[in-house]
Amino acid sequence: MPAVSVKQLLCLKTALEDSNRAIASKLEMLLLFLEGEQFKSEKACKKFVKTVQMLLSRLNYLIRCPKCGKPSITFYFYRGPLNFRAFAFQHRVGGRKITHYFGGLCRMPKLKLVPAMSYRRREKLLLRSNAGTR
Ligand SMILES: [Zn+2]
Repeated sequence: MPAVSVKQLLCLKTALEDSNRAIASKLEMLLLFLEGEQFKSEKACKKFVKTVQMLLSRLNYLIRCPKCGKPSITFYFYRGPLNFRAFAFQHRVGGRKITHYFGGLCRMPKLKLVPAMSYRRREKLLLRSNAGTR
C-alpha cells in the first residue's frame, strides 16, 4: 500500500482551490474597483485585459459575460472596418463559439468572476473519481 493516500492528495487539491478562490476574490475586488474607469489608450486597455485573462487562466477562473451571463474568456477588441472597439467575451452557446461585445472606448465594464468549471460538475467528477478508488 502506498505511503501517500488519494485522500491526502485530494486535501492538497482542496488547499489549491481555496488558495485560488482567495486570489480570484481579490482580483474581482480590484476589477470592481475599476468599473467605469477609462484607460489612456487602446494599447494600455488591451494589455490590462490580457494580463487579467492570464491571471484568470492560471486561477482556473473565467469572466461572467455581461450580456448573457455565461462564463467566458475576455479580451479587448479594437479592429475591423469601422474601427469597432469593445470588450469581447468568448464562450460557447449550444456548442457554437460565440463572442459577445460589451462596452467600448477603453471603459471598464463590471467584471464578475466565475470558476472555470461549475462546483456541481466538480463535485460530480470528484465523486466519480472517488468511487473508482474504493
Ligand atoms: Zn455572452
